[in-house]
Amino acid sequence: MTATPLTLAMDARPGISGMTPDELGAWVAAHGQPSYRVRQIADAVWKDGGQTEATAFRTLPAALRDALAADLALDTVGDTELRIADGGLTEKALHRLRDGALIESVLMHYPARGASRERHTLCISSQAGCAVGCPFCATGELGFGRDLDVAEIVDQVRHAARRLAADGKHLTNIVFMGMGEPLLNLDAVLAAVEALNDPHRFGLGARHITVSTSGVVPGIRRLTGLGPQFTLAVSLHAARDALRDVLVPLNRRWPVAEVVAAARDHGKATGRRISYEVTMIAGINDTPADAEAIVDLLGNDHAHVNLIPMNPVAHTPWNASPMPVIEAFAATLREAGIGTTIRRNRGQEVGAACGQLAAERAGEPPAPVVARRRERLVMASAEALRGERSDEPLPAGVGE
Ligand code: SAH
Ligand code: SF4
Repeated sequence: MTATPLTLAMDARPGISGMTPDELGAWVAAHGQPSYRVRQIADAVWKDGGQTEATAFRTLPAALRDALAADLALDTVGDTELRIADGGLTEKALHRLRDGALIESVLMHYPARGASRERHTLCISSQAGCAVGCPFCATGELGFGRDLDVAEIVDQVRHAARRLAADGKHLTNIVFMGMGEPLLNLDAVLAAVEALNDPHRFGLGARHITVSTSGVVPGIRRLTGLGPQFTLAVSLHAARDALRDVLVPLNRRWPVAEVVAAARDHGKATGRRISYEVTMIAGINDTPADAEAIVDLLGNDHAHVNLIPMNPVAHTPWNASPMPVIEAFAATLREAGIGTTIRRNRGQEVGAACGQLAAERAGEPPAPVVARRRERLVMASAEALRGERSDEPLPAGVGE
């Protein structure tokens, strides 16, 4: 018997959710259809996270349905594996895209407390993998895969919105804190935010969308030129260059003072408070001197700092700072007038730090590689803690 070669044709149809209303309008007109069809199609794509292949477009004429199916994809997210943690409060989704790339999104439910209403926050990815290579981050460990397109970004949101709608609930917040560096895929991220904002598409207010960056200064400056689009969060992790060179390799291209200057200008121009994230790593960036350095750096800025205990990831020798250390760190910042919150870890038992599930799937690197990485990290952080700047080259694909 001769084996028939199996050719798996990749679905290359563009995702409908990535099209602007004008693009969809042009497609509808090209098929000789009246313009009100645009609204009908958009409703099926966006309302309550959109309908499924089985139910979408039932009210459209058969010829238009066939044309849609031939030209455009209703969903760019293929299989999704869900893992539930924190007694149902955290849902981690591992999505397989049509070319097999794996990305993650995490839905976190916050029950109503006192005067604050219940919230449902979705953390989404902007790239498969990431080129920046922060050593404490599972995505950084994976390296860069590829940029996501607009539909692939917003389809993570539609997926979660559909799951919520089934319980009569709605997404209240979206954060770009999953896999990838959003400001290194800025065109797609901006178009995705526009779709998420647009009242005729997803319709979530800009104030409820946060984009986190590890410090791509030209990207921050470009955003400032555009005016307020969303809340900007900056992954600070350390205020001292030598240490930040190791924790956020992009710091060797744009040192922390330049990052904070760009963020400060952004805050002034948009009237929005900037938030800074610090992943708290025991014995590395959690000392009183580190807290003082942040106070000096942020000075009188209208800033807010989030302290997040590090989620342990494979291949690093590091762990989360103990809670009393984090509390003392927070106290130093607060005494200096910097609004500071300690964020509780979510979904640790399902590996909810960004990229952890995908890293798990990629398989463990061989033990000697892990050992070498750990050794290098111990040496690099020891040098950094002595104040020596790193002379390692920038990772490929960033900072040019
Ligand atoms: N690349 C962007 C956005 C995605 S990372 C950025 O770095 O800002 C989102 C956040 O998750 C960052 O603040 C990052 O520092 C944090 N993070 C990554 N790995 C983590 C870990 N193991 N434990 C805790 N936070 C982590
Ligand atoms: Fe990339 Fe952000 Fe992870 Fe750093 S923390 S490797 S920038 S995803």
